[in-house]
Order: sequence, then C-alpha cells, then structure tokens
Amino acid sequence: MTTKHYKVLIADAAIHPDGIKLLETVADLTLLPSYSTEAELVSAAGDVDAILARTAKITAAVIAASPKLKIVSRHGVGVDSVDLEACNRHGVLVTITGDANAVAVSEHAFGCLLAMARKVILAHANIKAGKWERDRIIGTELYQKVLGLIGLGRIGSNMARRAKAFEMEVIAYDPYARPETAQQLGVPLVDLPTLLRRSDFISLHVPLTKETGHIIGQAELAQMKPSAILVNTARGGLIDEQALYESLAAQRIAGVALDVFEQEPLPANHSLTQLDTVLFSPHVAGQTAEALRRMSVGAAENILAVFRGEIPPFVVNPEVLNQR
Ligand code: NAD
Repeated sequence: MTTKHYKVLIADAAIHPDGIKLLETVADLTLLPSYSTEAELVSAAGDVDAILARTAKITAAVIAASPKLKIVSRHGVGVDSVDLEACNRHGVLVTITGDANAVAVSEHAFGCLLAMARKVILAHANIKAGKWERDRIIGTELYQKVLGLIGLGRIGSNMARRAKAFEMEVIAYDPYARPETAQQLGVPLVDLPTLLRRSDFISLHVPLTKETGHIIGQAELAQMKPSAILVNTARGGLIDEQALYESLAAQRIAGVALDVFEQEPLPANHSLTQLDTVLFSPHVAGQTAEALRRMSVGAAENILAVFRGEIPPFVVNPEVLNQR
C-alpha cells in the first residue's frame, strides 16, 4: 500500500461521494459530521493540508490549529462562514465552487415566487385539513409585476432571465454590478429605496458581509408595498428577523419565503414559525442532485489543483497567491 502524501479534512461528511472519491486517490481523509463544533474542528485540523467545508464554520482558531493548511475549499459560494482575515494572515487560499449551484438556487427562489403568489401552501394545507375554500385562495400573477433583485451576480442574473421569461419587469440594486451585464440582461440598476418602493416581489442575492448585514431592516421593510412578497435564499443575516416578524404580524408586507436564517438550524418555536405568511425551507435552495454533485466535485478539484501547484478557479483571496 502506498503512503498518501496529503491529509484532507472533509468537515461535512454529507457531501456527494464523487468529490470524496477524487480526494481519496491522493489523500488520507478525515470526515466529520455537518455542523461540527469549533472544538471538534480544531482537534481534527491539526495536520491537514486542506479543509473542504460546507456547513462548518472555519474560524481563526481552526486556522491557527492547522499549520500545514494550504486551502479552505468551500462547497458552495458564501464565505461568511470562513474567517478570511485569519486565512490571509496564515497564507491559506480560500476557494468557492462558482456557478455550480446558481441554477439550483434561482429555480428554488423562482419556485418560491410562484408558490407565494398563488398561495400554494395554504391551498395544500386546506385540502389536507378537509377544507374546500376556493374563495380564500385568490392568487396574484407574476405577469407584468416588478421583481426587484438585490444583487445581480450569478444567481441574481439567473433570476432575471427566468423572470423575463414570465414577462415580469426586472430591476436590480447592485452597486458593484457591471453596467454591461445589467444592460445585456435588460435590467435597469436602481438605488435601494427605488427598488423597495417599486417592487411587487423582492429577492435577495447578495453575500453576507459587513456592508450587507441587515440590509433589510425596519426602515427598508417600511418602504415596501403592503402587497410585497420577499424571498431570501441568500443568507439569514441579511434580514433583521425581529423587524421582519413585526412587519409580517402587522400585515405591513404580504409574505416572505425564507431558505436561510440568522441562526441555523432554525431554533424550535422561533417567532416566525407562528405566522401563516412565511414559507420555510431548511437552507436547501442550492440542493439539487445535479448541484450537489457539481459542488462536491468542484470543491475536491480546487483542492487537487492546489496540491498540483496550480491556481484553482474561483479564488476568493488572490492576495494570498503573492505570499507564496
Ligand atoms: P455572486 O458573487 O455572483 O453575486 C453577488 C452579487 O452581490 C454581486 O453582483 C455583487 O456585486 C453584489 N453585492 C455585493 N455587495 C453588495 C451590496 N452591498 N449591495 C448590493 N449588491 C451587492 O454570488 P452568487 O453566486 O450570486 O451568490 C449570492 C449569495 O447567495 C451567496 O453569497 C450566498 O450567500 C447565497 N447562496 C445561498 C445558497 C443556498 O443554498 N441558500 C446557495 C448558494 C448561494
């Protein structure tokens, strides 16, 4: 038996097996369950060359405990779960899996728009409860309604294309979007107050950063139409959940679909679960069979590229490359 040269910590064992198969050809693997604690990660990270992370929080303590670490390879695209400053300090490359789940998330978000507009959950629950209440279930059309996209990157652009196919008017707030991209999509870029005021549906597609935390708070909710429907498949911390609860309870907006939460897993008996105007899913927007395989293989390939001395695609902190 040949000795493998590398050690890889797969911080979430529940990834598609194809990524694991790729890595085990060159590395000894340690697999931890999803949502492992910092202490569990620290004790497993000691001598690894790479960490593949999905739900795991890669904190400064995890990085400091791992002196040989070369790469944190995210399974997905958000990096709010990784301490980027600690990675930069220790010369650790951070990668994401680019557009591997962009179609999956946009299809889920678009499904939420339709489900909310047509009261699909209420209709389903009524039938299950033995009710036949046709007069209570009057939907609204997406046709000619305004969809406001907060973030016009990979997922936001996919949303724009889908919404155009439904003959919606699409506007976006994204101060960093390339004007050519917005123009090609036929999506005017507007400021946030204009988007909040004009949109019938609002969908969030920005990363969670210091700048975007609580981008939707009490003041922003107050500017939305009373008929507005909000969809968040990006990150929980983008919305002030207490302000959202108050706004929904007072019927100041019509409803919200949430795939992501300030705290995950969502605590039992969370105030939002008391409301009928919320559609929930447990952070699964990016989870299709196709996307899970793409993310697992993509995250593994990023690690293999670093082991071969190559620069992987979708590097989040290219400044680290100059330290090598
Ligand atoms: P992306 O980087 O392609 O696009 C993000 C866009 O947000 C960019 O165009 C950027 O300019 C814009 N942006 C950044 N800061 C902004 C600000 N302050 N105001 C307005 N716009 C701003 O990323 P993506 O692949 O489209 O993913 C978007 C986010 O979706 C990810 O960061 C992640 O948090 C989330 N996500 C969730 C799931 C899920 O399963 N629910 C899956 C994938 C991604």
